[in-house]
Amino acid sequence: MIVFTMGRQASVMPKTYYNCPISEEPVHEVLPRAADFVEFFCPTCGQFRIAKTAIGAVKDMPQSEREALLTAARLNAQGGVGIPFISSIH
Ligand SMILES: [Zn+2]
Repeated sequence: MIVFTMGRQASVMPKTYYNCPISEEPVHEVLPRAADFVEFFCPTCGQFRIAKTAIGAVKDMPQSEREALLTAARLNAQGGVGIPFISSIH
């Protein structure tokens, strides 16, 4: 049996979120250029950004509220051509 190691999952990697905060499925994280948000590319939710301070709060929310947040972020994303950004929870 041959075991392939995944180079991108090296133990030296900094804290990384491997599950989509909206749909909770495994996603690829797009490495952020800024320090205060994380960008994901999710097969269900699409590409979006979320503030690091908002991730914990989102994970505590019911599924319907998470999706509403993402929908609102999409509407605010330059008429749908920009990348949705979930910046804060209120
Ligand atoms: Zn998702």
